[in-house]
Order: sequence, then C-alpha cells, then structure tokens
Amino acid sequence: MAYEQNLTCFSTFGEERSWSLETYEKKQGYEAWRKILAGKLTREQVIDEIKASGLRGRGGAGFPTGLKWSFMPRDADVQKYLVCNSDESEPGTCHDREVLRYNPHALVEGMAIASYAMGVTIAYNYIRGEFIDEPVPRFEGAVREAYEAGLLGQNIQGSGIGLDLYTFVGAGAYICGEETALLESLEGKQGKPRFKPPFPANFGLYGKPTTINNTQSLASVPAIIRNGATWFAGLGPEGSGGTALFSVSGHIEKPGNYELPMGIPFKDLLELCGGVWKGRKLKAVIPGGSSCKVMPAEIIMDCTMDYNSLQQAGSSFGTGAVMVMDETTCMVKVLRRIARFYMAESCGQCTPCREGTGWLYRMLTRIVEGKGEEEDLGKLLDVANKIEGHTICALGDAAAWPVQSFLKHYYHEFEYMVRNRGRSIVEGNTEAAA
Ligand code: SF4
Repeated sequence: MAYEQNLTCFSTFGEERSWSLETYEKKQGYEAWRKILAGKLTREQVIDEIKASGLRGRGGAGFPTGLKWSFMPRDADVQKYLVCNSDESEPGTCHDREVLRYNPHALVEGMAIASYAMGVTIAYNYIRGEFIDEPVPRFEGAVREAYEAGLLGQNIQGSGIGLDLYTFVGAGAYICGEETALLESLEGKQGKPRFKPPFPANFGLYGKPTTINNTQSLASVPAIIRNGATWFAGLGPEGSGGTALFSVSGHIEKPGNYELPMGIPFKDLLELCGGVWKGRKLKAVIPGGSSCKVMPAEIIMDCTMDYNSLQQAGSSFGTGAVMVMDETTCMVKVLRRIARFYMAESCGQCTPCREGTGWLYRMLTRIVEGKGEEEDLGKLLDVANKIEGHTICALGDAAAWPVQSFLKHYYHEFEYMVRNRGRSIVEGNTEAAA
C-alpha cells in the first residue's frame, strides 16, 4: 500500500514549525492566492474548479462544496460573509484541530480563495472554545502573519480584492457546530438552530448571505487550485474526490489522524493503523463520528471509505472519524454512553429531541442497571423513530440513528442483558465497558 504519495492537501504536516508562513510558502503556500491576486483566475473559474474537483464538505453532511459556493448570490450589492466552522465536537473527530494547530495557513488561504469566489469581504473562523490552548493562537498567528505579508486586508497588493478575517471563539457547546446555531452564537445569542428555510445563503449572519464551510474542506482548497480539479478528483472514486483526514480511535494499535485517499478499502485503513489492538477480533465500527450508524465487522470489512460505499452499506462517511470496537465491547453500554451525550447536548427547542433523548438515556440506564424489561427494547426503537425526522436540526437524527442501528445489529445483546438482569453478553469484560 503506497498511500503516502497522496499526502499533499495539508502539505506542511510533519515539517518543522509547520504552522509558520515561512514553512508554508516553501511548500507552495499562497501560490494559488497570489495567482488570483494577479488577476489570473476569475470567480467563475474558481467555483468551476472546486465543483469539478468533487470536494464535499468534510464536516459531516458531505454536501458538494463548489455547489454550495454557487448558491451565494454573487451580484447582490449587500455585505456577504464566509464563516468557517471550526467548532469540531462530534465524538471521535479530532482532525480540524490539527489543521488549526499544524497547517493554519492552508485554512487562511482556503478562506481567502473561497471569499474571493463568492464576493465576500468579511470572513470569520468560529473555533471551538476548548481549542483555546494551542489551535486558536496558532490560527490567529497565521492570520497576523498573512496581514503582515500583505496577503489580507483592503485592496490586497493593488488587486482591488479585499478580505478581513476574524477569529471567534465559541463557548464549548456541541450544538454550535450546527450551522445556524453557529450563526446565532456568532451574533452573540444562545446557540440554538434556526428553522430552515430561509437558508444561510440568503439569510445568514446578521440576515445577510452567508456560506458556512468546514475547516478541512476550506483547507483543501489551495491544493485543488494549485494542482487542478482533475488531480484532486482522481485521488478518490467517483463522487468522493480527494483525500480526507481520517481520525481513527478506539481499540486500535495506532490511533491517530491519517490523510488518505477517499475510497481506501477499510481493510487497508485498519492495516495502516496497526490493526485491532492486542491481537483481538474486530467487532464493530462507527465509521464517521458517533451519530453515524454502527457497522458490524463483517459488513465494513467489504467497504471502501467513501460516501457512496458507506451509504450503500447502511451507514455514512460523516466526519471521517472511525471508531473501532473489538470483540470484548458491550454494545449496550456503548449505546448508553452515546445516548447520554446527545441528551446532554440537546438545546431543548423541540419536544421530540428534548424529551426523547432523555427517554433513550433513562431506558438504556435501566437496562444496564438490571431493571430493564423486554418491552423496553420496543420502546427504545419507538422513541428513536419518533425523534428521527421530526426536529428542527439534525441532532435529533444523530440521537436516533445509533439506537436504530445498534438494535438492528446487536438486538441479542440487549435482550441478553434484560433477561440476565444487567449482565453483559461479553461477561468478564470490564476493560471495554463505556
Ligand atoms: Fe435543539 Fe434538538 Fe431541536 Fe436540534 S433537534 S433544535 S438540538 S432540540
């Protein structure tokens, strides 16, 4: 497996002082931006290039980035905004913080190119509050360097192009990763998702046209403009262009972030990460962050890691956060842990989510504590089905999907625990209990 050759989108990873302008420029940093400043690329050309590259949002939804940019009303004479979503909070996901920490100039350049393409002159990076230690100062340092080098500001290098870029640090709420909750928070209000429509492209920040893109998506843009859409699209299968940063965690020998081509077979990914830890057998994988549907080993072993393959197999690519579980894992306890997270993070606006997430957690707790009844299993599914598709934002679905998929694939484990008054089917295992 020679996957290292594709380590190109985040070119300074692994270099000395990889976050500095000096290092970034040695790796062709700001070449694409300088080309734009020299008037060699029109807005339409940039958008067409991103469309043709097949880049899809890496924040979880997987929406085509170029298409999203094209929704922005380009000729409207109003202030428009670009907002980068660096509020990375989906459990299992830990790659955006590494972009901020080790390759922040790729993000600054990507934001500059995106802003130009959409006629935006003010951009914000909304960064998760817990990243205050290193990622925030590194990103702010990169913005400062870019201003000092004359790469940001008004009438940049006499090009007539202007962009001011600001950092906003959130207060650590998962729901602010939802794009309209993020906008509310950025406006200084409680981070609660808005009803849609209207969508942010028409009514976004302060009611003005706004595009929100994920950190990794924007940081991939300079490499695409530099090397061309064909190069990027060719790295992955049809419908899933480029490389992605996979956050691999759980029962794995070498957990970490891996930049690899989309469409890599799961088997190869597992091997690159050293395999399941302690020589144990693979039991299950959540392939894209905790809200994605769980996949038993026998299903995911035949999958490639891209949007189409994972969707056809009953799950989704999500954020590329691959959570590995070995044979000793108690699936009931894992689900209870996930349910607790979504209950705690619900903003409380809609009844099915506010009440339903609490019901799910309390029923699962009852089962784990040996007080569950068999009828609880039907109720779990019923509550999950009543949440799914009946809420303002996707957190409701995120709470329902794990319940539905865990019950679908591991019903016998839940049944066993109910019948045995809280005893797990993987008895003797305390290590993997969540
Ligand atoms: Fe809030 Fe949940 Fe409704 Fe989303 S689904 S708006 S998190 S209550």
